[in-house]
Amino acid sequence: MAGKLYLVATPIGNLSDLSPRAVQTFEEVDFIAAEDTRVSVKLLNHFGLKKPLVSYYEHNRAESGEKIIARLLAGESCALVSDAGMPAISDPGEDLVVRCAQNGIEVLAVPGPCAAVTALALSALPSGRFTFEGFLSTAKKNRAAHLDSLKNERRTMIFYEAPHKLNATLADLQAAFGGDRRISVCRELTKLHEQTLRMTIREAAAYFEQVPPRGEFVLVVEGAPEPSEPEVTLEDALAQVFALRDEGLSLKAAARQAAEATGFAKNVLYDAALGK
Ligand code: SAM
Repeated sequence: MAGKLYLVATPIGNLSDLSPRAVQTFEEVDFIAAEDTRVSVKLLNHFGLKKPLVSYYEHNRAESGEKIIARLLAGESCALVSDAGMPAISDPGEDLVVRCAQNGIEVLAVPGPCAAVTALALSALPSGRFTFEGFLSTAKKNRAAHLDSLKNERRTMIFYEAPHKLNATLADLQAAFGGDRRISVCRELTKLHEQTLRMTIREAAAYFEQVPPRGEFVLVVEGAPEPSEPEVTLEDALAQVFALRDEGLSLKAAARQAAEATGFAKNVLYDAALGK
C-alpha cells in the first residue's frame, strides 16, 4: 500500500508556532522532503528531532519529485516542508501535490502559519473576498500584464515581495492602481521586528524611499472601488415616465415608478411631464 504525503506548515519566524501535530508527524514519517535542508535541520534540531532529509526545491523538483513519488508508492511516508509557512503556496510543493494526485497517493495537511493569510488578517482591509497573487514576475512584460489584469479587481489582493524589489513594486502598484488605494505592508511577521503599516500606496512608496526595506514582506492591497452608477439625467427619467404612461399607467403612477427607478422626486417628474 502506498504511503502518505504530509504537507507540514512550519513557522514563518517564531519557532513556537510549530504545532504539536507537526512535531508528531516529523517523528512518525519515514523521511522529510525539505526546500532547504539546512533550514529544516535547524528546525528539527531545535525540537530534538532526527529524521532523514531529502532536498526538494524549485530546480530539482522534477527529478527529486519522481524519487519521492517512487518511495511513497513503495509504502514510505513523507513530510514535505518549505523554508517557512505552508508548503505548496508559492513554492514547489504545489508540483509534488499534483504528482501525488496523479499517482493516487493520499496527501494530508498539517496546517499552520501562512504568510499570506496572516497578513490578510492583519490588514484591516476587507477579507471576505480576496485573491492571492504571489510574487510579481521580474520580467517587465509579464509583470505589466499581471498588473493590468488586476486593474478592475474588486477583491483585496495579496502579493509576496522580496525587500530589494519592494520599492519598484510599490511604484508599479501606484502606476497600476493609483496612489490613493489603501495598502497594508506586513514586514517580518511573527519576528522580533514585526511591523504592519496601513497607509495609501503613495504613502507606502514615500515611506520606503526614506526607510530602506529590510526583511520579508507581504503586501495587501485594497480592491478597485465599485463602479459608480451612471448618472440618470432628468431627460432620461422623463423618457421613462412617458414610456410607462404609453404602457397604460396613469401619469401619476408612471411618475411614481420612474421616481423609484431613477432617484428623482415623483413631484419633480410629474410636474416636468406636465411641462410645468
Ligand atoms: N509557503 C510560504 C507561505 O505561504 O507562508 C511562503 C513561501 S514564499 C517562497 C516566501 C515569501 O513569503 C516571502 O518572500 C515573503 O513575501 C513571505 N513571507 C514569508 N515569511 C514572512 C514573514 N515572516 N513576514 C512577511 N512575509 C513573509
